[in-house]
Amino acid sequence: MEHDAEPSTLVGDHISHLAALTAQRDREMLDVSLAQGVLELLSASSVGVYRLVGPDDGAQRWLCCGLARRGELTVSDPPWVDLDSLPVVSAFPLRQLVLDSRLLEQAELPTASLIDPTQRFVTVLPLMVELGLPGVLEVMSDKPLAMESLKPIQTLLKVFANFQNLLESSQRDSLTGLLNRQTFDATFLKASMPSQPDPGHNGERRSSPATGYWLGVVDIDLFKLVNDRFGHLIGDEVLVLVARIMRQSFRHYDRLYRFGGEEFVVLLRGGTEDDAQQAYERFRRNVETYVFPQVNKVTISLGFTEVMHNDTPSVAFSRADQGVYQATHQGRNQVLCYEALVRDGVLKTEAAHVGDVELF
Ligand code: GH3
Ligand code: MG
Ligand code: MG
Repeated sequence: MEHDAEPSTLVGDHISHLAALTAQRDREMLDVSLAQGVLELLSASSVGVYRLVGPDDGAQRWLCCGLARRGELTVSDPPWVDLDSLPVVSAFPLRQLVLDSRLLEQAELPTASLIDPTQRFVTVLPLMVELGLPGVLEVMSDKPLAMESLKPIQTLLKVFANFQNLLESSQRDSLTGLLNRQTFDATFLKASMPSQPDPGHNGERRSSPATGYWLGVVDIDLFKLVNDRFGHLIGDEVLVLVARIMRQSFRHYDRLYRFGGEEFVVLLRGGTEDDAQQAYERFRRNVETYVFPQVNKVTISLGFTEVMHNDTPSVAFSRADQGVYQATHQGRNQVLCYEALVRDGVLKTEAAHVGDVELF
């Protein structure tokens, strides 16, 4: 086994794990690779990566982003897991302690509560996250882990954190911290791939071209006026606050983007047209009722559409954008569904629209 190898081989092992880790571009797979890599380097029975998800008000939960166990496949919670089914922060005080202190902790679990003797010792190490979800690495073992075997793991985690921060910053908008436009195409294609299990329709529409994802395009109303009256700095603050309201209005697994300027995008997972309408309405109301410093009232216009398996990001975007256009010209501060507008005869279908592009 690797942990009994000569020191020079060990160094080689660490470097090859680093190489494997930094080849990864998918943020979700990164934690799985980390758990797997660390398990191979330690005489431990399992290695897990746990991150905090949920609203930033003390009601956060532990999401398992990668759990590697000897002789078993590495698993993780699905990203769209229901928040209420996850353990609360205080259920794992050692993890909580490490998150706060940013220092490694090791403890022996009371023998009475022990089900598996190979899980007698728990070692928790902090993941140094600047952007993205705060997290820890948790190692379970039958013996206490020696400091000399943990040192190189700490170094590995530092390089991992640097790499992850770099990856996150390349995928996020620097003003609001939301995902950026460049990242949209990749996540969109993942969402519209036919191999995904049907998330919202309990299988009854398995052969349908619908993916169960809803794409919403958001435009702040009369935003130029905000800049003109209050200046660009206040305008920027409005953008930051709208992004924050957005995070509070949607589920932890919905994807939120800033496309630039005063335009935002929400990729919702699961549900019917009514569910999507309600979720987007909730966000619109939350913006409408928020009291913005100086500016006071800000409203948004939102258009949304169902994502289809044969959609390209730009085709789906242009449907939702027609909803925004309609909402803006109908008096602003409203949410309109593209499919409903077509049903009502307000908009023509995509096919009929190809020649009409100059209308917009
Ligand atoms: P409508 O209700 O029709 O959407 O009107 P609007 O004024 O919101 O739309 P318009 O597209 O005419 O203006 C958008 C303005 O957004 C123009 C520009 O002043 C502002 N803007 C774009 N990017 C930024 C930014 O990064 N920061 C700030 N403060 N303003 C921005
Ligand atoms: Mg605009
Ligand atoms: Mg606008």
